[in-house]
Order: sequence, then C-alpha cells, then structure tokens
Amino acid sequence: MKSIGIIGSGQMGAGIAQVAAQAGYHVYLSDMNQEIAEKGKAGIARQLVRLVEKEKIDQQSAETALNRIETVGSLDPMASADMIVEAATEREEIKRQIFAAASEILGHQAILASNTSSISITRLAQSVKDPSRFVGVHFFNPVPLMGLVEIIRGLATSDQSVAIASDFAKAVGKQAVLAKDSPCFVVNRILLPMLNEAFFALGEGTASMEDIDRGVQLGLGHPMGPITLADMIGLDTLLEILRVLQSDFGDPKYRPAPLLVKYVEAGWLGRKTGKGFYDYSGEAPVPTM
Ligand code: NAD
Repeated sequence: MKSIGIIGSGQMGAGIAQVAAQAGYHVYLSDMNQEIAEKGKAGIARQLVRLVEKEKIDQQSAETALNRIETVGSLDPMASADMIVEAATEREEIKRQIFAAASEILGHQAILASNTSSISITRLAQSVKDPSRFVGVHFFNPVPLMGLVEIIRGLATSDQSVAIASDFAKAVGKQAVLAKDSPCFVVNRILLPMLNEAFFALGEGTASMEDIDRGVQLGLGHPMGPITLADMIGLDTLLEILRVLQSDFGDPKYRPAPLLVKYVEAGWLGRKTGKGFYDYSGEAPVPTM
C-alpha cells in the first residue's frame, strides 16, 4: 500500500496523517475544505519540529514526511488511494455521507476504514458499495504517542480487509487488537463510564476537579486524571460517544452527566477550543468551576 486518504484533519486525522507520512505513505489530507486541511497540516508541521528539537527524528526525515502530505479540497484526488481512513466528527450522518461519496470515487480494491470511537461498523458499512471492504481502525490520542489500534470487524468485513487494516496499523508502528463490532468496542467501553462518573461526581460537588484528577492519578496510577483526559479527548466527542452507548445498548446507565452536556452546550469542548473543564488560555490550566 503506497497511498492513503485521510478525511477529517482534526486532532485524530492529523495524528494519523503524521504517522502514515512518517511510515512512508503518500497522504491525501482532506476536511470540509482545503483551508481546514491546511490548518491540520500546519499542526503536523509543528509536531514534527518538536520531534526534531527533542532529537527524536532528524530535520531531513521531518521535511520528507511533511512533503508526503498533500492537502486536498475534495475527495476526487483520493481516487487512486489504496485505503481511506475517515476521522471526521463523531456523528453518524456525517460519516455516512463521507463514505457514500468516497465509495463512488475509490477503486475496487480500496479499503474504507473509520476511526469512529463508538458507532457500529456494520451500520456504517451500509453506506458503501461493498461492505466487505469496510473496517474499523480505532487509533488513540495522541496518535504519534499511543501504541494501540483497535481493528473492528463488521458483520460483512472480509478477512482480507481485516488483514490489510492490521498491516497498516503495524506499518505505522502500532500494535493491533481485534474487537467485535459492539458499541465502543473495547477500550472506550471501559473508559467512558469512568469519565462519565467523574463528571457526575464533579457535578455533585464530591470533590474539586483538581482533586478528582489528583485522586485518580495517584490512587489508580493513571498518567493523567479523568477531567484532564476528557479535555484532551474533546467533550463533544465524549458526549456523542455516551449517546451511542446509551442508545445502542438501550441502557440508561450510560446517560451523559448533565454537567458534560452543559459544557458542550457552552462550546467549551476542551483543549481544542482553548477551554473545557480547564481554561488553557494562560500558562497553566485553570479550573473553570
Ligand atoms: P476533531 O473535532 O478534532 O476533528 C474532527 C474534524 O472533522 C474537524 O476538523 C472537522 O472540520 C472535520 N469534519 C467534520 N465534518 C466533516 C466532513 N463532512 N468532511 C470532512 N471533514 C469533516 O475530532 P477528533 O478528536 O479528531 O475525532 C475525529 C474522530 O476520531 C471521531 O470519530 C472520534 O470519535 C474519533 N476518535 C477521537 C479520539 C479522541 O481522543 N479525540 C480518539 C479516537 C478516535
């Protein structure tokens, strides 16, 4: 596989584009328009500069990787790509539209993959011409640092598609675990109830957000607390994921905490908007409540 199309150039799409380019793929990077894709590429350029400063990679490899990323204003240039990975906003209707359009453009061998955190791969596969070539490839945030990719097989996904997706994960330096197509797959199925419980506890005034974070960090040995992690993931994404868990399992135990809903309604989505549970406008994050 030599070329890959990435649809959605936010934090995950940009991360996947970066590791794919570093692994030698030609990357077509798109978003709602080319301007947003360019912003995604500019973010990747900053990440690569940091890697050079930390002496993790040399200047030449950084430049080569960046040059392999071609921003595009439509899906058409991806026609010759061997695989596309969709990493757009966690909304089923958005993803369905993207896959319906991509499926028209791509060649007969190309693999269509979604980085969705929660949405049924079997259901999303209904939007493409050949569901056997549809597969879930779920990366973790931040992509360049996290070593895991969950590979999710929908009901119609072929063995060959699973093998190609697993090879891609390996080629970009990740370990793959296989998961069945169940809401949120494996890791988020475990993580999301914990984060949601932290929002309930915060909303009920059980402890301050700093103490919740410190408690989980020191008491459970997690590298960061749940409120900080939630801000890093994106509160809108978490809300969408919880709604999928709630509706697909039909179980009220997954109902999103009211405090999370309120923050999303305020547009305080986390680090990506400069403010979530913490405010990131100053030198150090400051709690917003
Ligand atoms: P993000 O908000 O940073 O980026 C989403 C991007 O999708 C934005 O740039 C937006 O402009 C773009 N987009 C929206 N509609 C589009 C369309 N019709 N066509 C093309 N692009 C479109 O979100 P993110 O955190 O990068 O999440 C993207 C996907 O990755 C979601 O499915 C999410 O569930 C999944 N994911 C997120 C994380 C995480 O920690 N944030 C981890 C694993 C998987």
